[in-house]
Formats: sequence, structure tokens, C-alpha cells
Amino acid sequence: SLSLGILGGGQLAQMLALAALPLGVKVVVLEPDPQAPARLCAEHLQAGYTDPAGLARLAACDAVTLEFENVPVEALAALEGRVPVRPGGALLARSKHRAREKEALRAAGVQTAPFVPLEHEADLTGALEAVGGRGILKTSQLGYDGKGQARVDSEAQLRAAWDTLGRVPCVLEGLISFEREVSLAVARNAAGAVAFGPLVENTHRQGILRTSVFPAAAPEGTTARAREMARAVAEAWGLEGLLTLEFFQLPGGELLVNEVAPRVHNSGHLTQDGGGLSQFEAQVRAVLGLPLADWAPLHPTAMVNIIGTADGREPDWAGIDALPGTRLHLYHKASRPGRKLGHVNLVAPDRETLRARLARLEALIP
Ligand code: ATP
Ligand code: MG
Ligand code: MG
Repeated sequence: SLSLGILGGGQLAQMLALAALPLGVKVVVLEPDPQAPARLCAEHLQAGYTDPAGLARLAACDAVTLEFENVPVEALAALEGRVPVRPGGALLARSKHRAREKEALRAAGVQTAPFVPLEHEADLTGALEAVGGRGILKTSQLGYDGKGQARVDSEAQLRAAWDTLGRVPCVLEGLISFEREVSLAVARNAAGAVAFGPLVENTHRQGILRTSVFPAAAPEGTTARAREMARAVAEAWGLEGLLTLEFFQLPGGELLVNEVAPRVHNSGHLTQDGGGLSQFEAQVRAVLGLPLADWAPLHPTAMVNIIGTADGREPDWAGIDALPGTRLHLYHKASRPGRKLGHVNLVAPDRETLRARLARLEALIP
């Protein structure tokens, strides 16, 4: 039987493990936090990411993947040559650094928002004009869920935000007036075979993903265009494994890549309950070299995130259970404001019904 090592033990590792088990795949996670979600469904090596004994256990697996891109480079270096790590260290080094990632996206021939990398204070001069006069300053490293970002509309605001973010390396991006946000995952195996996930439409609130919907209400040809861009990135970056691209769609239909996650993605959670292959099984298959074709829900499907609230208000659990087509997924995490605690997937026989049920579901989740 096969075994899969995972760097990181958060909810993505939990759900990867839940997808791997029915395939007969044994899962081992390396994760320092004793309370991390994946402890409940995988062999949990509670050790630092560079712990030699922990890494030796991962090296004994058939392949290693990750659910968390901020794994130290030393951990990947220590595994190299001992076990296939998918995606590998070179791809990871790009996708964990916003400025490098954007440069590598451009090099792969795909469009991004205008951007200027900011390393030193002197780089701030003229930067906002260069991206169109209104922008978003983002730290190059460690940002997620909109953390480490600030909207800036003047050079004075840019200087203040640079101070607030700690004068660390950043990217200044031009503010995009997008029509919608969509995402798409691509998997590629060691032989170069490529498969795609569904095009999903995403809505954010305060920088955090709130809902995802399949199918996306995007113009004709959008899926083909997103796939072409995903394939270009996967091939240019030598992907082995799975990665997800987030896009802004402009009013004319054009797609810009916002960012890339070298793994399953929150917007793909709806694939768990849409009747088709889930993104988690897709990543497991891609990483272990098992057969994999395009995956997508068979029915219209949506997802709503459950996010910790400042006032401690909880979702209406009974109401969620009573709504037809809902499936609850909780991560066994303590509640904190802005923290992702779980999600609810929602399936419906047609798009109209999905839209009506989604409105009701959203009202049940503060
Ligand atoms: P995560 O990794 O959790 O998706 P993040 O912290 O890396 O989030 P981004 O994806 O860069 O953040 O941005 C979060 C959201 O903020 C985007 O999905 C989008 O809604 C908005 N946003 C980000 N950059 C821009 C931009 N250049 N123009 C307009 N909106 C933007
Ligand atoms: Mg991000
Ligand atoms: Mg994002």
C-alpha cells in the first residue's frame, strides 16, 4: 500500500488525509502544533519542520506533498533526493514570495496586475504612479486572508502603510476593477500529463474568501482561457503535483492571475460534495502518480466559509442542517475573529435552486 507524507497539519492536511484513506493510502503529517486539525486523521509527527527524525519518517513515504507553503526551505532541502517532493522546492520558493511569483508568472507568459517590487525605502518614490495611482501594498512573504495588505491611494498613504507593515519587502499592485474573481486548479504528473479542476467563482469579504460557486457565471470561453494560462504556468514551472490559480476577470473578459497556491485551495472545497472527484483526491493522485483525469462537480455546488466572529456569534447550526443539500465540514479549531473554522458545502439540482439556497445559507452564517 502507498503512503503519503504531508508538510503541515492544518485543515487542508485533514481533508487530504480524509481523501487518501479510501484509496488505501496511509498519511503521515509533520506539524509542530499538537492541536493542529490533521492530528485526528493522520499519523501526526509532532515535531518542527526541520526535525531530523520527523523528516526521516517522511522520507520513508512514497511521496511528500505540502498543505502549507511556508515550510522552511531547509526541510525541503533535507528531503531532496530521498523522496519525491511534489511540488518541489524550486516551485515552492517562487510561490511563497509574492514578487518572485509575479515575475515568474510574467515569465510564463501570463498577465498579472501591474506591480512594483519594493525592497528599500527609495523604491517607494514613483511606485504608485507606475501602477496607476491606486494600489494595494502586500508583504512579499507570509500574507494570507488579506493579512499584511493595505489599500493606498496616495504616496503619503503608501509611506504610512510601508511603515505599518514593518518596512519589509513588499509588492505594490495596481488596484484592479474586476468584474469577478475566479479560480482553477491544475495537476501535472511526472510524465507531463495535465488535468484541470473546475472554474469556480469566488466572493471575498474583508480580504477573506466568503463564498465559492460552481459553475462560475463567467462569459463563454473563460474556462478555456483559464486552463490555457494554468497549463502555461504548470509547464513553465515544471509542476509535479497540483496548484491553484486565483484570477481577476476584467469587464472585457480578460484574465489576470492574482496569485498561485502550490496546493489545494479553499475555493476548491466545494468539489468534496458535488458528486465528482474532489480536489483533495486529485492532489493525492497527482502526487502519488495515480491515474487522474479532469475533475469537477457533477451538480451545481457552492461553499460558504465559517469564519470566527469578533462578537462570538455562531452559525445557526440547526438551520444549516435543515437546509436541503448542505454538508458541514469543521476543522476542530478554537474560534478567533477572522479565523477559518470550517465550511458548508451546498449542492442543488440546478443553478436557480442553488442561488436560492445559497442566499438562505449565507443568512445562517454570520
Ligand atoms: P489568500 O492567500 O488567503 O487568498 P492573500 O492574503 O494572499 O489571500 P490576495 O489573494 O492577494 O490575499 O488578496 C485578497 C483579496 O483582496 C483578493 O481575492 C481580492 O478580492 C482583493 N485584491 C487583492 N489584490 C487586489 C488588486 N490588485 N486589485 C483589486 N483587488 C485585489
Ligand atoms: Mg495568498
Ligand atoms: Mg488570494
